[in-house]
Amino acid sequence: MIRVLLARLKQGYRTMAFPAEGLKLPHRALGLPKVRPAGLERAAAACPYGAISSAGLDMGRCVFCGACAKAAPAAVEFTREYRLCASSREGLMVSGTQHRRAEALGKELRSLFGRSLRLRQVSAGGCGACEADCNVLGTPAWDMGRFGVQFVASPRHADGMLVTGPVTKNMELALRKTYAAMPSPKVVIACGACAVSGGPYAGHEECPGLPPDIPVDLYIPGCPPHPLTILDGLLRLIGRLE
Ligand code: SF4
Repeated sequence: MIRVLLARLKQGYRTMAFPAEGLKLPHRALGLPKVRPAGLERAAAACPYGAISSAGLDMGRCVFCGACAKAAPAAVEFTREYRLCASSREGLMVSGTQHRRAEALGKELRSLFGRSLRLRQVSAGGCGACEADCNVLGTPAWDMGRFGVQFVASPRHADGMLVTGPVTKNMELALRKTYAAMPSPKVVIACGACAVSGGPYAGHEECPGLPPDIPVDLYIPGCPPHPLTILDGLLRLIGRLE
């Protein structure tokens, strides 16, 4: 026992400070793009998922592969900014360096969920990457529970549903049952390019996507989103960050 205690003392406090001054994505990760009109057509032609148009770059469709920035570096440049989430689908469109960051829920919902938000995660045809980056938020290094946010095993204990994957036909019923089983009021979070827009599977007949009658309160872009991006979005949603 004494050895365990000594090892624990030696390890010290491992949980990262969040949010912290100067916090950025790691060097190899791509964050908020800067989009300029010069050469945008070349960037759009290089994008395999049609995420770039004359209106800008749609982070909801983008898988952050970097092909556009390689093809047209004057038009697209990726920064290490991790604050990417939005409250509306349109908020994910980046023109210049501007996009509409996620806003907090209304006053009543904030008073309910601001200090305690329990989420049921539904992997609706996901590859496991978004799910892994959600899981990591429960580890000691991230400790999302310190903000009162936790994943739970039953939708009956959940305040919200976090959806990953493109929502395949096979998962649609399970998704609807989960949504119906959660007590109201409840929130819905689309996490990752697939849940937001279908990602690489957009338009596929087997992947109809999130049904329009299930309203989404928070969009988290990325493929997969970095845990910093997920945590930032969740805390903005419940009004813990501005
Ligand atoms: S980084 Fe995004 S916008 Fe650029 S080519 Fe890849 S998917 Fe398309």
